[in-house]
Amino acid sequence: MELPYAESFKIKMVEHIHRSTKEERLQWIKEAKYNLFNLRSEQVFVDLLTDSGTGAMSDRQWSEMMLGDESYAGASSYFKLKNAIKNILGFDYFLPTHQGRAAENVLFSVLVKEGDIVPGNSHFDTTKGHIEFRKARAIDCTIDEAFDTTLKHPFKGNVDIDKLEKVLKEHNDKVPFIIVTITNNTAGGQPVSLQNLREVRAVADKYGKIVVYDSARFAENAYFIKTREEAFAQLSIKEITKEMFANADVMTMSSKKDAIVNMGGFIGMRSEKLFQEASVFNIMFEGFITYGGMSGRDMNALAQGLDEGTEFVVLQNRIEQVAYLGRKLVEYGVPVQEPFGGHAIFVDAKRFLPHLPKEEYVAQTLAIELYIEGGVRGVEIGTLLADRDPETRKDRFPKLELLRLAVPRRTYTNNHMEYVAVALGNVYARRKSITSGMKILKEAPIMRHFTVELDRI
Ligand SMILES: *Cc1c(COP(=O)(O)O)cnc(C)c1O
Repeated sequence: MELPYAESFKIKMVEHIHRSTKEERLQWIKEAKYNLFNLRSEQVFVDLLTDSGTGAMSDRQWSEMMLGDESYAGASSYFKLKNAIKNILGFDYFLPTHQGRAAENVLFSVLVKEGDIVPGNSHFDTTKGHIEFRKARAIDCTIDEAFDTTLKHPFKGNVDIDKLEKVLKEHNDKVPFIIVTITNNTAGGQPVSLQNLREVRAVADKYGKIVVYDSARFAENAYFIKTREEAFAQLSIKEITKEMFANADVMTMSSKKDAIVNMGGFIGMRSEKLFQEASVFNIMFEGFITYGGMSGRDMNALAQGLDEGTEFVVLQNRIEQVAYLGRKLVEYGVPVQEPFGGHAIFVDAKRFLPHLPKEEYVAQTLAIELYIEGGVRGVEIGTLLADRDPETRKDRFPKLELLRLAVPRRTYTNNHMEYVAVALGNVYARRKSITSGMKILKEAPIMRHFTVELDRI
């Protein structure tokens, strides 16, 4: 027999998790005002809220923690990280920040002003938040194929070049940069092809624009390029990573994703002028330019994480586990976004609960049902997250109403994935008995999903 695929790691330390009863969960979720962010982690059995900062660091990363240099200025840890960013990603200048949105805050303080328009592929919520906070506008130029969860397309994260050119033609002087999110989180963890990245570069050059990559899951994107884009199948992940970033002028990074650390971020830049301008804001918001909100030990673990995170087997272990969950869910009839995303499985709530009206927060309703069923915490990527239109203050109904099951890196076993699939399969079997959704009791004016209070209708 051919030997089956298996993970290339073993486990050195474990953490106990508590398995609750349905009665406990009914009480807890009510107390949490039907907002999964309000649950205590002990009230969750399998936590698929996010893959952000929830991964398990390797023994080598933990060793690097011990070698951290905590000097205020010029720490060796800063130079270790600077070298890793230069060698792996190819950027000469960088600023450390405490996480991804802080990188956005610092960078956009330089680049975005009131009235600007920032085209891209399904801007992530914090990215959009930082654009709209500055009274600028984000325009989504993702390809239409991304919005049909039944359609199999290898690069659903791609930018629609015609849509992008249209924005540039109409609003050329208002566009400070083009932003490309790799992988495209909001559209379901879908990758962007290298060909598409090159096409965006060509359009940017034609209109004299800089290109920013929102790079949280760049390594997963490289893995998909290697495995789906034939022309690059022979290149290593590290080679593809270089090729991808060769088409960008700036990158923002949430290191809590593909760099497999619990906290951290940075901005990578080619322009010394931009670096100097951004340094001012980094010092104001984050910290001195050689630590910017990170401890020396964290910068060390991050440098090591960038190296490990761009190794083929590490990515294969991760993406295969996500796909394992996806295949199990398909087996149980659950409608999911295909092809499966790199970091998460996205359940199509509109196809799961077609009888609920869109005004009743369908994906949130499904997230609550899954929690009650098995103590599994996912997250709504739908109307709650899409927030209100800043002008009309009406709910924005996104094309996709999704329940995201994000898988932390190296944290759970496939046995946990099986458990999650059965729990959601059970909800699917009783879906017709879910006859109403949720209503909002209280919400914040921006990024409401974190603190919203809800009730059953
Ligand atoms: C997580 C994420 C961010 C924000 O990063 P934080 O570290 O959570 O602040 C930005 N963009 C994308 C695509 C992300 O996935």
